[in-house]
Amino acid sequence: MNVEEALKKLDLNMCYQCGTCTGTCPVARVESAFNPRRLIDEARLYGVDHVLNKEELWFCTECFMCMEKCPQKVKITEIILALWEEAVKRGIKIPQKFVGLAKAVASTGISTGAYGGKGTALSGMILKKREKLGLPIPKIKQEVAKDIVESTGVLEILEGKSKEGGE
Ligand code: SF4
Ligand code: SF4
Repeated sequence: MNVEEALKKLDLNMCYQCGTCTGTCPVARVESAFNPRRLIDEARLYGVDHVLNKEELWFCTECFMCMEKCPQKVKITEIILALWEEAVKRGIKIPQKFVGLAKAVASTGISTGAYGGKGTALSGMILKKREKLGLPIPKIKQEVAKDIVESTGVLEILEGKSKEGGE
């Protein structure tokens, strides 16, 4: 399936530009360059080539809040993931932070808190908050995570295509 077909399946054309996604997005609240409503609009109007090289495409944290709130049930987060996948396939340089994430998953089984490539585990503050909310610690066995990272070759792909210095 090519990226246009994938986007069609993800209800891209159901968007009626209400802006709820952008109003809900925690990233858009602090970074005006990032606007999921506009990304959807531009991908639809001008095609994926228009958005794939945008730096702000990578600002999404994949929190899924926009998808929860979208009145049209547009799969916004999955659309962004499909665009990321297409960017990687085309060899477009991606931010350094993803190398850190892959290394953290391989060494700890957790991706959160990996920015900077140190592979750090969840911070004490996050652990406390999760405990208070009765949430489990999302973690898979480190050996399993390492196997996945090694067998997919994701680290090599990311290292070969990531921006030097990153964000
Ligand atoms: S919330 Fe849904 S319908 Fe509204 S702009 Fe965003 S994607 Fe489009
Ligand atoms: S998934 Fe991405 S676009 Fe959607 S609310 Fe979260 S950060 Fe914003």
